[in-house]
Amino acid sequence: MRRHRNVKIVATLGPASSDYDIIRKLFEAGADVFRLNMSHGTHDEQRARHRLIRQIEADTGRPIAILADLQGPKLRVGAFGDGPHDLVDGAKFRFDLDAAPGSSDRVQLPHPEIFAALEPGAELLVNDGKVRLRVDNYGPDFADCTVTAGGMISDRKGVNVPDVVLPLAALSAKDRADLEFACELGVDWLALSFVQRPEDVIEARELARGRAAILSKIEKPAAVRAFAEILAVSDGIMVARGDLGVELPVHSVPPIQKRLVRACRAAAKPVIVATQMLESMIESPMPTRAEVSDVATAIYEGADAVMLSAESAAGNYPVEAVMTMDSVAQSVESDPTYREVIESSRVAKRQTVADAVVAAAREIAETTDINAICAFTQSGTTVSLIARERPRVPILAMTSVEKVLRRMCLTWGAHCVLVPELHRFKEAVVSAARAARVFGFADETQLIAVMAGVPFNVSGSTNILRVAPCDERLIFRTDPE
Ligand code: PGA
Ligand code: MN
Repeated sequence: MRRHRNVKIVATLGPASSDYDIIRKLFEAGADVFRLNMSHGTHDEQRARHRLIRQIEADTGRPIAILADLQGPKLRVGAFGDGPHDLVDGAKFRFDLDAAPGSSDRVQLPHPEIFAALEPGAELLVNDGKVRLRVDNYGPDFADCTVTAGGMISDRKGVNVPDVVLPLAALSAKDRADLEFACELGVDWLALSFVQRPEDVIEARELARGRAAILSKIEKPAAVRAFAEILAVSDGIMVARGDLGVELPVHSVPPIQKRLVRACRAAAKPVIVATQMLESMIESPMPTRAEVSDVATAIYEGADAVMLSAESAAGNYPVEAVMTMDSVAQSVESDPTYREVIESSRVAKRQTVADAVVAAAREIAETTDINAICAFTQSGTTVSLIARERPRVPILAMTSVEKVLRRMCLTWGAHCVLVPELHRFKEAVVSAARAARVFGFADETQLIAVMAGVPFNVSGSTNILRVAPCDERLIFRTDPE
């Protein structure tokens, strides 16, 4: 089984996608990575989904990455006791620490750290930004505000404070428990919500202790400002457009998306474009033209992956949503303009032997008719470097390390193959040729490029590039030991 596209599809699992049959259908339709959203559902439910995914891996013989998304420091108001209230433009409203039920002129905001960090004129956004309030006056336990955009406020609605860097712990007690649970379970990626500074990422990395790779969700203005530093300490990035479009004016999201995708590619780290990609498919079997165009844009920009949230977790058409992404991807990637765009945005980086070998492999793919680039990797680095080149032919990502195998499922173009530990380059060539034939990338008459590092099993040593026949008899006849 192989995909006929390079961009990857991340599908969030939820109530609409929790049994074996539906998850298997999502996988067969094209989902490469499944996302477990720790903001919803119990540990038992997540454990059950994790087990089903691993069962599907075993049954299909193909690796699947699992990404656990931690809720992060999501701020919420308290309760009202007497139902929702309609806040009108110009009205005065107070947030405080008092746990008494809220009314039409006040409610609890049980986060003293917000009051401590406020600035005059700061904006508080409630209910995904539908209600906006400006802070007029504040103290250590209250903030008096004026409603600047009215709307409904009700029990435990979310609050965003875009203008200030909050001195919040990046990981709440719940996040720490969820992180440990997810690592124990054996997820491949951890996503961190509302990252504000590089230290937030470093803290999670220390807790994960190498058990999972760390992906930072960019959804705060502070994270956009500190993006270079956050990227440097992260293994991957998510452009989390849902909260980003609340915390910043919604029109500022597309340029940020472009900039982030480009920077991630330059850094050879996977980037996911997320949220509302096919939103109308929650209710409808057909996407809107604008949604199709949005998915296409992310692919033209060179994103590693596009993501489904409620569409696959709670919608009526989860499989159709994955199929839509898959067909949009195939359509975009076969467009000659896509090749032009991808190639013109390539970053020339030739600092190491590995960089040079990877660039050479891509050039061979452009000037000859090899069918695949097969790379042996211990850490996944070589494959990330090849993916950065966005070569014209498929990438076979070959490793003996199961954890690395699954993580690479998020990387652009990587068709991941588990191989036994190798000791000789000739063995590598033979197993690459075999994988290329078995998965339908090449036949016996065709050629592949094989990359590896010798000596084997030392990470970061990529130094050999061989153009090899897929016919094993020829390999044995021609190759040195
Ligand atoms: P969420 O993150 O779905 O966990 O909120 C994605 C986003 O904000 O876009
Ligand atoms: Mn979010």
